[in-house]
Amino acid sequence: MGLFDALFRSSEILGIAEETLEFALESSEETHPNEYMGFLRGTEADRLDLDRDGLVITDVLVVPGTETNSVSATVKTNQIPNDVKALGSIHSHPNGVIKPSNADLDTFGRGSVHIIIGAPYRRTDWKAFDSQGKPATLNVIDVDLPDTEDFFDFTQADIDEELRR
Ligand SMILES: [Zn+2]
Repeated sequence: MGLFDALFRSSEILGIAEETLEFALESSEETHPNEYMGFLRGTEADRLDLDRDGLVITDVLVVPGTETNSVSATVKTNQIPNDVKALGSIHSHPNGVIKPSNADLDTFGRGSVHIIIGAPYRRTDWKAFDSQGKPATLNVIDVDLPDTEDFFDFTQADIDEELRR
């Protein structure tokens, strides 16, 4: 399968990589009492040696310029790079309430899965929601993540090359 197909195939979200979830929980704890906030990116399941079609959430992109305080994390949308295709978002609630706020609901329309992590950030202190803010099932998948170095290194030149074939 070429890069072109990988980019344009419509994909189901199969779940989140265990390592990625653990990373987000740890980051939320480190950020406490401020909010942790990022966007979720995925990897094609077949690149993770899973014999399935779809995407696994493998990456949290923390947006530069996110202003955090103990009340809310505000993302300046003009600082999100255009080439980022986010599957959804992830953020923490230092007050421990794992429920979308009204402000969260306003932003959930972008992307299809939204994770909220609550203090005290244990392995079970998170929930996934859909774009309407309704609880959603998100599997945790134990996969080996490839070396990030070459993995997310798609450039426009790679894409152009693929389109020329
Ligand atoms: Zn929130």
